[in-house]
Amino acid sequence: MTGEARDDCLFCKIVAGTIPATIVRETETTVAFRDINPQAPTHVLVIPKAHHESAAALASADPALTADLLREAQAVADEDKLDSYRVVFNTGAGAGQTVFHVHAHVLGGRGLHWPPG
Ligand code: C5P
Repeated sequence: MTGEARDDCLFCKIVAGTIPATIVRETETTVAFRDINPQAPTHVLVIPKAHHESAAALASADPALTADLLREAQAVADEDKLDSYRVVFNTGAGAGQTVFHVHAHVLGGRGLHWPPG
């Protein structure tokens, strides 16, 4: 069922502390950690502690938690003193989603081109 921790989910394991991550922020509902393969000087993933597969699934199941992710994205940007930044939710394998526990990529600290590749 959506929301419940999954044994086979990498990010549920980061939430549980059984896989290491460089955690930069934690709230009652979210964890933010540095991406292990950073694509920008700031590249932080903000995830809900509860397991939801995608941004769309999260938005349907828990709008308040969706808002928590976006507030935390801003908090990450504030901590890294970013004037501007990009938030990306890859949704579906064709868009590059490889971990099916929703995560907001927070990217900044360099010029960001548009459109993205
Ligand atoms: O959007 P996508 O699903 O591809 O993003 C997954 C991200 O999780 C990747 O950027 C990858 O580098 C990151 N990752 C991580 N720590 C892990 C495994 C993956 O930061 N242990």
